[in-house]
Amino acid sequence: MRVLVTGGAGYVGSHMVETLLAASHDVVVLDDLSTGHRDAVSPKARFVEGDVGATADVAALLRDERIDAICHFAAKIRVEESVSAPRLYWQGNLVRSLALLEAVLASPTPPAFVFSSTAAVYGTPDEVPIDEDHPKRPESPYGESKLAVERALESYGRAYGLRWSALRYFNAAGANAEAGLGERHEPETHLIPIVLDVAAGTRPSLSIYGTSWPTPDGTCVRDYVHVSDLCEAHLAALRHLVTGGASAAFNLGTGRGRSVREVIDAVKRVTGRDVPVLEAPPRAGDPAELVAKVERAEKVLGWRARRTELDTVVRDAWAWKVRAKQG
Ligand code: UDP
Repeated sequence: MRVLVTGGAGYVGSHMVETLLAASHDVVVLDDLSTGHRDAVSPKARFVEGDVGATADVAALLRDERIDAICHFAAKIRVEESVSAPRLYWQGNLVRSLALLEAVLASPTPPAFVFSSTAAVYGTPDEVPIDEDHPKRPESPYGESKLAVERALESYGRAYGLRWSALRYFNAAGANAEAGLGERHEPETHLIPIVLDVAAGTRPSLSIYGTSWPTPDGTCVRDYVHVSDLCEAHLAALRHLVTGGASAAFNLGTGRGRSVREVIDAVKRVTGRDVPVLEAPPRAGDPAELVAKVERAEKVLGWRARRTELDTVVRDAWAWKVRAKQG
């Protein structure tokens, strides 16, 4: 396949480029480098610096490169920022995705479309694990913008025959240190990289956002899924679509929940370092527990996460950090 990866200079996107190349596909990356890193893109991929929302340019790219499928990662991803600066999310995530889809639909043979969605489409769940049919009640413009794109995909599929998958990531984590890839967000807001910074001594302590949640140890529970597993799921979704599989949304998680304290313990075990913590008030908008029900992806895509031990996720993220520091 010839695959266009938008946001291929970002965290999950750059790992996906590596996965596609390893599976002998041709890759074109489209990224505006607003948050991504040029050096995260494999030299074996063609790199185009540009805006996914520039419909005419993207239409030309799809035609000239004879693109068979698109993995659309390019997006804004910070829940809190989406509350204070929602325009960035409605414009950056919804309007730009719709503009990209205009280019897709203008193509004589529209490429299959795999969309990076999120567990944030569900909001606070009625129950865990969460299945794909759970009511969608996003609690931030970030989640709203992702859900709106999903709704567009559904209706474009029905009306125009667009082939699509929406992959709802739970907590993406881990790294592919051998390929020189890892998580580099600025500022970093995600738990595992922050705890690793504390272990490395580049941050003084970790603030635990809430210690009296209705969970076994009082801290929030999340489903941490290895980025390499996410990439394998995208590959499975692409295969599914190009072989005539039905368009649908899928949860991508491990099906297992881990508390903030369990993550801290894993970091201590893996790094052999201490992690000083402060107990802080809950962060606005955090649900107590988010865990995926993963049966649909297993049944339909034949995919399940393989790197399900928290220590594996943490070890890989740590290996990347150590390697990046050695530079
Ligand atoms: N968290 C924390 N301290 C931090 C960052 C995160 O206690 O400095 C908690 C957060 O409240 C959530 C979990 O760690 O329960 C995972 O947060 P993250 O931002 O990584 O992902 P989210 O689940 O918000 O998408």
